[in-house]
Amino acid sequence: MATVAFIGAGPGAADLITVRGARWLAQADVVLADALTDPALRDWAPRARWIDVGKRGFDRATGQEVIHALLLHHAASGACVVRLKGGDPSVFGRLEEELAVVRAAGHEAVVVPGVTAALAAAADAQRPLTRRGRGRSVALTTAMTREHDLGAGRHADTEVFYMAGKQLPGLARQLAAAGWPATTPVAVVSRAGWPDAIHTQHTLALLAQASMLHRGRPTVVLVGVGAEDPSAAAPVPPAAGATALRPAPA
Ligand code: SAH
Repeated sequence: MATVAFIGAGPGAADLITVRGARWLAQADVVLADALTDPALRDWAPRARWIDVGKRGFDRATGQEVIHALLLHHAASGACVVRLKGGDPSVFGRLEEELAVVRAAGHEAVVVPGVTAALAAAADAQRPLTRRGRGRSVALTTAMTREHDLGAGRHADTEVFYMAGKQLPGLARQLAAAGWPATTPVAVVSRAGWPDAIHTQHTLALLAQASMLHRGRPTVVLVGVGAEDPSAAAPVPPAAGATALRPAPA
């Protein structure tokens, strides 16, 4: 019986991996790595044979069955196997399928969380996903379904759409049909967590304009309260009875 560690690499630059994830890399014999992970992470796994099993959208893909076979093959040899996934392994990473395969073969599985793209985007754009009193819920949604159809609705105060970059005009139409007003703030962030991250601010009505700006880059779309620029919002007054730390200017 071997151990397979499913590690979240974080969304971008290598230093966004967790310390625990880096420790697993340091002791790995084999690393099966996703396409969106930073190649610089190889330096953290000096002993490991590094195998790229990248998937991007629905075009170029290592079949999921091939990944399963590689996991089982290397685990059966007793190797310390790390399955390195972009962002967090539990978010749109097909972790459930890989866990099932590994466990069914009698191996132990360990999951180490990572910074998911939504959180890195919120950090880059400085758009907190929750807002006191107004933004009480966040939904992570894939804009892509198995049939490649767009699926968008209105489920939370802030919605974060993954895998939507190629279909922003369609996303905008569906969100409008689901009841989001045309003036809803939308922040689009591509390559979140990388030094060349870009974030742009839109309204729902003009979201299609973002397509060119983020073309060919992994992109998430923040919709609703969490997409508002905090510096544009009115400051929240202190709670009754609270003492202000500094007196207000006269
Ligand atoms: N497990 C990953 C998500 C994998 S699905 C995570 O937790 O982040 C792949 C999608 O994630 C991409 O289509 C894109 O929508 C989003 N994504 C991944 N990395 C990103 C990044 N650095 N910046 C913006 N979006 C990213």
